[in-house]
Formats: sequence, structure tokens, C-alpha cells
Amino acid sequence: MSEQGIETVLFAQSILAADVASGLAARLEAGLNWQLTDIAADAGTLVGRQSALGDSVVVEVGWRSTPRLGLFRAGALDPVEQQAAGTVERFEPQLREHSLAAEMVEQAHAEESGPSIEDADVIVAGGRGLGEPEKFALVEELAKALGGAVAATRAVVDAGWYPYSAQVGQTGKSVSPALYVACGISGAIQHKVGMQGSKTIVAINKDPNAPIFEFADLGVVGDLHAIVPKLTELLQARKS
Ligand SMILES: Cc1cc2nc3c(=O)[nH]c(=O)nc-3n(C[C@H](O)[C@H](O)[C@H](O)COP(=O)(O)OP(=O)(O)OC[C@H]3O[C@@H](n4cnc5c(N)ncnc54)[C@H](O)[C@@H]3O)c2cc1C
Repeated sequence: MSEQGIETVLFAQSILAADVASGLAARLEAGLNWQLTDIAADAGTLVGRQSALGDSVVVEVGWRSTPRLGLFRAGALDPVEQQAAGTVERFEPQLREHSLAAEMVEQAHAEESGPSIEDADVIVAGGRGLGEPEKFALVEELAKALGGAVAATRAVVDAGWYPYSAQVGQTGKSVSPALYVACGISGAIQHKVGMQGSKTIVAINKDPNAPIFEFADLGVVGDLHAIVPKLTELLQARKS
């Protein structure tokens, strides 16, 4: 890597990428910063930004030497068109025997219908305020009426109400849609860090003191079981 003049290697966070990055860091005795949300040149070196202390603060992190390795939090950056032309070089690795000891037996993908939460422009998210797993249908119907995707909090994912692939937050995905509608979600810091990049946040919660109202652009205080179906009905009527 050093022969080729490679100074920085960045990965998009996934289980496989974390595995490869940490192995590479050990092999190269290189520094690895993870959960990065941004990176910028500063006085001739690179400085990363990372969430810390349970996502309550953002800290700047650096590397003492090269190569620098970094893992980016999924969904942290929007793709941007670049003027500079890049080149792709094919690399043929020379694998040693111990690197071939593990064998991929099967790779499976969860069946998904509709847009994924990472790509969706509109997300309707459900939390414990739904009361029971069956009530996720309300969130799904509103998402369908808006042409959006469904997300969930960790509380409902842990309770088995919705799959982990839909979890937004510190231990889930980071999303930044144009519209994020939070239904029955308190707005805990660990959820906020995953969706605070949304352009417009609408919160429906029966508790006027719920923390989500501190950062929502539009707040509706009331029972979601009455409000969400009505909203879906109005949207469907407007469409037809
Ligand atoms: C290390 C760590 C990592 C974590 N990672 C994540 C993460 O990635 N994502 C995440 O989401 N959480 C995460 N959490 C959990 C987080 O702290 C919260 O517990 C969780 O986000 C709460 O989920 P909730 O808002 O669905 O439930 P609650 O906090 O129970 O909130 C439910 C809300 O629904 C409202 N409500 C109830 N009934 C109604 C009704 N009929 N109509 C309208 N509103 C109603 C209530 O007023 C309440 O505000 C993490 C926690 C830890 C410690």
C-alpha cells in the first residue's frame, strides 16, 4: 500500500467492511477511526468527525501516521458530483493460506418491498407509541400514501415488532430524507442522531413534553391512532 502511495483508505460501514478494516489496521499497524460522519483537510492533514459519548457530542479525530483508515457511518454523506476525473485501478490481491480459512457458505438478502430507508425521500417511522405490532399497518399505509419507506425505533425492533433493517439511530441506520414523519416516538438522543439530517421532521405524539418536539419542524400533539389514519385518508383523497 505504501509503495503505491496510498495514504488514506475509507470504508462505508458494514459488518464486512468493519471486519476488513480492523484486520487491515492490525496488519499495517495503522490507525482506524470509525463511525465517521465527515472528513476534511485541515492544515495539510485530514481531520475526521465522529459521534461520541452515546452520540451526545461530535468530536474531531485524527491519525498519527499513514496509512489512515476510516469507517464511515452508513448514510452519513450525500453523493456529490465531482469535477475531477478519478481512475479505477484493478487490484489483484495475493492471498495467504490463513486468509482463505473462512468460507462464505451463503449470502442472503432480506426481501424488501418499496424504497429502502437509505434511499427514500419520505420516511414514516413508528415507535412504541403505536402500542402493538399490528398497528404498524397505520405507519405502512401512511408511508404508501406518501410514496415513502417505513422506519422504526430500537424499542420496537427489540420488541420484535419490526425488522432491524428498518431501525434508525445510533445502532441502526442514519437517514436524511426530505420528510421524516415520526409517529409515537419520544425522540431519544440515540434515535435523533440517525434522523436529525432530515430536511423536515414532523412529529405526532400525545405527550406535549416529548423530547422530539424540541427538534421537530412541525409537531402534532394528539393520539396517533386518530391522527395517522385521518392523514392517510386525506392524502388518498387528494391523490384520487
Ligand atoms: C447504546 C444505545 C443505543 C441505542 N440505539 C438506538 C437506535 O439506534 N435507535 C433508536 O431508536 N433507539 C436507540 N436506543 C434506544 C433509545 O434510547 C430509546 O429507548 C428508543 O429510541 C425509544 O423508542 P420509542 O421512541 O419508540 O419509545 P418510547 O421512548 O417509549 O416513546 C414512545 C412515545 O410514544 C408516545 N405515545 C404513546 N402513545 C401514543 C399515542 N397513542 N399517540 C401518540 N403518541 C403516543 C409517548 O408519549 C412516547 O413519547 C439506544 C439506546 C442505547 C442505550
